[in-house]
Amino acid sequence: MITVEEALERILSNVHILEPEEKPILDCQGQVLAEDIRSTLDVPPADNSAMDGYAVLAESIRSASPDGPVTLQVIGEVAAGYTTQAAVAAGAAIRIMTGAPVPPGADTVVPFEETDEVERRQSGRSLDEIAVRKAVPAAANIRRAGEDIMRGELVLSQGTLLRPAEIGVLASLGRATVKVIRRPRVAVLATGDELVPLGQPLGPGQIYNSNSYSLASQVLRYGGIPLLLGIARDRIEDLRRHLDRALEADIVLTSAGVSQGYYDVVKEVLAEEGEITFWTVRMRPGKPLAFGVLGKGGRRIPHLGLPGNPVSSMVCFELYARPAIYKMLGRTNWEKPAIWATLQDTIRNPDGRRTYARAIVTRSDGQYYARTTGNQGSGVLTSMARANGLAVVPEDSPGARPGDRVRVLMLDWHEDTDQE
Ligand code: AMP
Ligand code: MG
Repeated sequence: MITVEEALERILSNVHILEPEEKPILDCQGQVLAEDIRSTLDVPPADNSAMDGYAVLAESIRSASPDGPVTLQVIGEVAAGYTTQAAVAAGAAIRIMTGAPVPPGADTVVPFEETDEVERRQSGRSLDEIAVRKAVPAAANIRRAGEDIMRGELVLSQGTLLRPAEIGVLASLGRATVKVIRRPRVAVLATGDELVPLGQPLGPGQIYNSNSYSLASQVLRYGGIPLLLGIARDRIEDLRRHLDRALEADIVLTSAGVSQGYYDVVKEVLAEEGEITFWTVRMRPGKPLAFGVLGKGGRRIPHLGLPGNPVSSMVCFELYARPAIYKMLGRTNWEKPAIWATLQDTIRNPDGRRTYARAIVTRSDGQYYARTTGNQGSGVLTSMARANGLAVVPEDSPGARPGDRVRVLMLDWHEDTDQE
């Protein structure tokens, strides 16, 4: 038996970062930058107002107070998207809106609230002049040119993971497209004579193919492009026929057929097509796991043979396929957030494997608590649907009891984790 770490290491040593592609920024979320982004402009490009108010000289209103307002001549107005040539001199003001460039001469902005603007409007008085009730120091309420980004600055470096904020930053630089590491195409092939495609009635002894859908959804969630290759029957020719299509992919995931019954068929096919290793990994669920490299026409495609049991295939995806996808995407950290929680029930671990128990994590009074989802059978897929984490019991531990602290790999961070 090999450990989870060994299995992961061997898989990742056969998986490599993919090539860059240039594409529209909105398609790049969750992808990794393949170029350094330097700015060709200042952001913002010019000094502009942070408030709706009046652009003035601080000196003009130095003595202003509620009891002794200073009245200024309003010589113009400037809104966001416009400029004005009028210069502001002592005793003058230009009405200015948020985001509008600060007119020449002005060195500060007095917000409307510090003037009699509202009263003038309500009483229908002229807005050709305005009374300022408060002194405002120079530079107040002005956003400086380049205060966000300076021309020439390295804004985002190669290797950065693009999230909504980074995509917004790219847009603020005027970048419509960007170079990122492309998304991996992940072939998903179910195997088994008992499997029925969705939309068809079940015959005796048959079940629906759920693995293809949970796995393809995991692929999508973690940034890959799933290629559904359907269902291969438990026969050599059929498996081979389906695997031919997998050669378009960057990695192949098959489910089932890695335990005893199917072993020979897979082995025979893969001995011809490439190379494969069958592992028993010291973990639960998901002990049987196969890994190999399909080789054809010079291409070498990693092949991860996941267990057939629906929970096992999803858990093994999290532990092995997700890191492989992340590595191909150019990500360098493939850990998911993990927390320590107080266990509320019992997890048994009788045979020295690392156990990943489906758990529901909640938080109360600033403490995390974890309880299992009940029946931990690896065929009970609804236990995955109820879980938001996997509580880990180490190999050398006989189990965990109520009150024990357990490490939980968080699969999701629902708002309802928080019960405060
Ligand atoms: P196997 O690894 O072929 O022995 O399969 C283990 C268990 O997983 C069996 O109960 C299968 O029926 C079930 N199974 C295999 N493939 C799928 C699938 N695509 N969807 C749902 N269950 C599956
Ligand atoms: Mg089978």
